Amino acid sequence: MSATRLTLEVPAWPSARSKRCSTLSRRRSAPNRRPPVSRYRCHRRQCPDCGAITLAPLPDEHAHQFGPQLTALVAYLTVVCRMPRLVVQRFLEGALQIPISLGSTQNAWEETSAAVASP
Ligand SMILES: [Zn+2]
Repeated sequence: MSATRLTLEVPAWPSARSKRCSTLSRRRSAPNRRPPVSRYRCHRRQCPDCGAITLAPLPDEHAHQFGPQLTALVAYLTVVCRMPRLVVQRFLEGALQIPISLGSTQNAWEETSAAVASP
């Protein structure tokens, strides 16, 4: 194409690493996935007529402390992998950056156990 007909020139650069090195780099490092963390702020309101205070409810799908996947993961690690709850707690915090109390791991396990037990 002649230079006089050229209306737009778009520079294209290869990535800094070769295809081989970028593939090796991806294999070496674990994916940096951070789980989504949501916070619901349930506000209170005072009734102007009687003064009673009402707390906004959580949506039904968030009535439990943790989501279904994290709850299932805790149950899997505890029951199938037979990991002690303290190890589960440290794994979640260290590897997945999910702070969780020891009691919460117990609650997640009990929640899953109750769900599996009911027909
Ligand atoms: Zn009222």
